[in-house]
Amino acid sequence: MDNDSIYREYGVPVVINAAGTKTRIGGSRIREEALEAMERAGDAFVRLSDLQARASERIAEVTGAEAGYVTSGAASGLMLGTAACIAGDDLGTMARLPHTAETPEVVMPRTHRTEYDHAIRAAGATIVDVGTNDPHLGTGARETEPWEIEDAITDATVAVGYIAKSYTKPALSTVTEIAHDHDVPVIVDAAAELPPVDNFERFTAAGADLVAFSGGKAIRGPQTTGILAGRQDLIRSVAAQQLDTHAAEAVWEPPTELLDPDHLGGVPRQGIGRPMKVGKEELIGLLAALDAFIEEDHDARTAEWRERSESIAAALEPLAGVHTEIAAAEKVSVAPEVHVHIDAAVAQTDATSLVGALRREEPRVFVGADSLPSSFTINPMCLRDEEADYVVERLRAHLGENTD
Ligand SMILES: *Cc1c(COP(=O)(O)O)cnc(C)c1O
Repeated sequence: MDNDSIYREYGVPVVINAAGTKTRIGGSRIREEALEAMERAGDAFVRLSDLQARASERIAEVTGAEAGYVTSGAASGLMLGTAACIAGDDLGTMARLPHTAETPEVVMPRTHRTEYDHAIRAAGATIVDVGTNDPHLGTGARETEPWEIEDAITDATVAVGYIAKSYTKPALSTVTEIAHDHDVPVIVDAAAELPPVDNFERFTAAGADLVAFSGGKAIRGPQTTGILAGRQDLIRSVAAQQLDTHAAEAVWEPPTELLDPDHLGGVPRQGIGRPMKVGKEELIGLLAALDAFIEEDHDARTAEWRERSESIAAALEPLAGVHTEIAAAEKVSVAPEVHVHIDAAVAQTDATSLVGALRREEPRVFVGADSLPSSFTINPMCLRDEEADYVVERLRAHLGENTD
């Protein structure tokens, strides 16, 4: 399996990815179109502000937002977006971030908190979360009453944070209405909400002021890219805080459609976003991948994922102590995943030992571990057919060839 992989040349074990688009094992397979574009992009120079200005136009076309920016990932988009909400066009605040005289606040429904929101705090904001986890008590209470969001908005509030998932409430349009009543922008984390392609427009249409997507998940652009779509003034602030701005004032002429000096009143200092640089190759790679993603036949791709999941489930189901089911794609991920339940009393191993053992093999086999200890998941998105066969073969080897 993958004997000619470059990782072997460096003595690093290859991973067979049955876990989906997870960054820690490399995200996704970058598209050919993106790789070819990157190779050509590496062969010449370009002013990055010109390239970001063109990307902004393209992202605006695709999302229906006023403007856009290529970030080094969705998480970077959250941080840059928060920095823009804090600083606006104020060069002094940009230069001081993440420190400010008064701590800026981002209001979020508590059930929207994730580990990724560290990116929001990294810009210098404190997250004020509202609501409860009561729905899990079964009392009928709602997670977040809309008035709780309104009540938490104060003079210190710079934004409302929202994570777009099928389970998140209240509806985004309800939240944007409340926030806009108080002149506060809404930042949406939609990192993994593609496909469907419609989702590019959906959150902006519901009133979001900034929306962050990953470039390295289903878009299959470079892993270190993301898309931030949103309001022109906020994207201008992002550009001012992310681009390398070491420049002689006398000859500083950034593209005004992205970064109009008239709004800024001077040359910005290197901003808080400068460590999250995006190279010309990644930028072009993302744009090429975006075009290819939009043109892709998504029904055919979903059918291929479903077929792969069904054939994996059918191959595992007869094994002793194994029960499989296909989880609905809409629930948590974009592709239909196989849930593999292991009855440790019947099978030769339990799910936790099995998942650990697979990861220690060479090549490493990664299945989804979020539903341990009773089950694990197999995600079809990053598997080629021969790799899917290999995963089944390894599972059969661990579980024994015994059938029920
Ligand atoms: C993947 C993910 C991120 C991070 O995206 P990157 O592009 O890797 O920075 C943020 N939020 C959510 C919900 C995600 O699924």
